[in-house]
Amino acid sequence: MKEALETCLLVKSVAELHPKRLAEPWAKDRFVCRSYKLVIELNGVPVDFYFGVKKSFPLSLPYIFLAQWDSFGILPHVETDGYICYAQEDGSVLDFDDVAGIAQEALSRAIQVVVDGISGKNHQDFLDEFGAYWDRLKKVKFFTSIVSPGDQVKRIHLYKVKGGAGYLADDEQSYKKYRKIKPHVPWKHYPAIYIPLPIGTVITPPHPDKFWELLDIRKIVFDNLRADQKSELLSLLTKPHHEEVILLSLPRASDGETLFGIKFKGVNHEHPLHEAGRASEIIPLAITRRDKEYLLPRGGSNLALREKRVLLLGCGSVGGFIANELTRAGILRLTVLDKDVLTHENLFRHVLGKKHVGKNKVDGIKDDIEGRLPFVEVLPIPLSLENALESGKIKIGDFDLIISALGNVTVELVFSKYIHGIDSPPVIFTWLEPYGIGGHALLTRNGSKKGCLKCLYQPEDGDLRCRASFAEKGQSFAKNINGCRNVFTPFGSLDAMKTAELATRLAIATLNGDIKTNLIRSWRGDATEFLKNGKKLSSRYSASNDHFIEEANYHFEECPVCHEPETV
Ligand SMILES: [Zn+2]
Repeated sequence: MKEALETCLLVKSVAELHPKRLAEPWAKDRFVCRSYKLVIELNGVPVDFYFGVKKSFPLSLPYIFLAQWDSFGILPHVETDGYICYAQEDGSVLDFDDVAGIAQEALSRAIQVVVDGISGKNHQDFLDEFGAYWDRLKKVKFFTSIVSPGDQVKRIHLYKVKGGAGYLADDEQSYKKYRKIKPHVPWKHYPAIYIPLPIGTVITPPHPDKFWELLDIRKIVFDNLRADQKSELLSLLTKPHHEEVILLSLPRASDGETLFGIKFKGVNHEHPLHEAGRASEIIPLAITRRDKEYLLPRGGSNLALREKRVLLLGCGSVGGFIANELTRAGILRLTVLDKDVLTHENLFRHVLGKKHVGKNKVDGIKDDIEGRLPFVEVLPIPLSLENALESGKIKIGDFDLIISALGNVTVELVFSKYIHGIDSPPVIFTWLEPYGIGGHALLTRNGSKKGCLKCLYQPEDGDLRCRASFAEKGQSFAKNINGCRNVFTPFGSLDAMKTAELATRLAIATLNGDIKTNLIRSWRGDATEFLKNGKKLSSRYSASNDHFIEEANYHFEECPVCHEPETV
């Protein structure tokens, strides 16, 4: 190792450090088991570095430290123990057969980080790193924020339950909703101010041993804010409390923003940001973000979907998974309709479990999803579709999209006819076939009226059969184990999940406006089990070997529901 490091450019000397030095924080905190002191010449001046490895080296990257971390001031990517962040371990693959190569490459990258820091070349990187420096400040306190960041200076509030942590929120309602606070739990509330620094603002993080003075803070705020933001801020600097909090937002160079807070204690008769304001103590607040603008994209969800209203008809096996995936995708308000109660027989292919047996499926879905995901509101309607429409419990025009997973073709054909007679948003019908041979999602009323569920069901030999079906017509798949009351169609949870995935992806693409026509998508599964049970496949199944089939022109020219006669 020593020889490998000695060959590096700029390295003047290498000496292995005494094992005793591994007890020092820089080594101990990072589990360094072997280390070297390097003298490297930077701008003609010798500078001390440490080079250390963990036991897992060369399966992990070596650590490189600046022996005196702030000898060049605060540099981007150099932490307070001297650690130089020169690479992300995530996603880098190490050639562990070339130990010397790894060491040399790491060292040259680390030196480059320091050189760029001294010259100011990577100063912009502070914007992406700011949060990391801030969270390590001395005396920092941790607060949670569910404030929706935006472009405007605004009044926000700090909520505290006795003995609990502090939460910053836009208003009482969003705080209560997020925390699901019981009405009898008392909390205290203080006004606070949200201050978004404009894009292009560059701030050097404070030195951990010497936090900003009041004048520094005022300068950062007032030197950077736009004129409209300044006047809004001045209007909020009203008669202060003994303690005042500000929440600042700093746009990152890559994307999004870093939130950080400052608490002023012992405030005099003016707000500390006011030129006559004073505070006896200034405390940095590290902010744990729990706002939806941060959490949704972080979890792979789509922020653009948050305002969309979706109605899901049917919460059986397929519908249950759709409800789950729609909300995880970022649909924050979902109305679910199903009249059925969850039974033990449902358990092995339903998203809900034993805990909800005996309850309405829609109430179970609400309880389950809202218990797992913040910001989501599920509105349950424990009625049949007919009753809900008749009683006015649902109004078609209230939604951006309707998904029907009722698993009842007759009711769905009636509903399809109904929505073609009124002003309706796009509707997706989804269903699956027995023994895992496939599932379907049909999109209708998306831009064009041409193409509907009825298009698939034209009478043939006095029988209605589905043109999209993968099973040959005239077969029965209903099974019963214990008399007619217990009839069921054989399919498994994986088949339901796959169909739900097909329908949910189609729903999201439709809501995002990525699909311009009506279409049908099908997944085509394995027919082994189906054939073992002596069943026959349709020509549609046999005509293709593809796993995924999409047809944009599924409409039937003479369809009595969606066919529009030419006007003369
Ligand atoms: Zn039609």
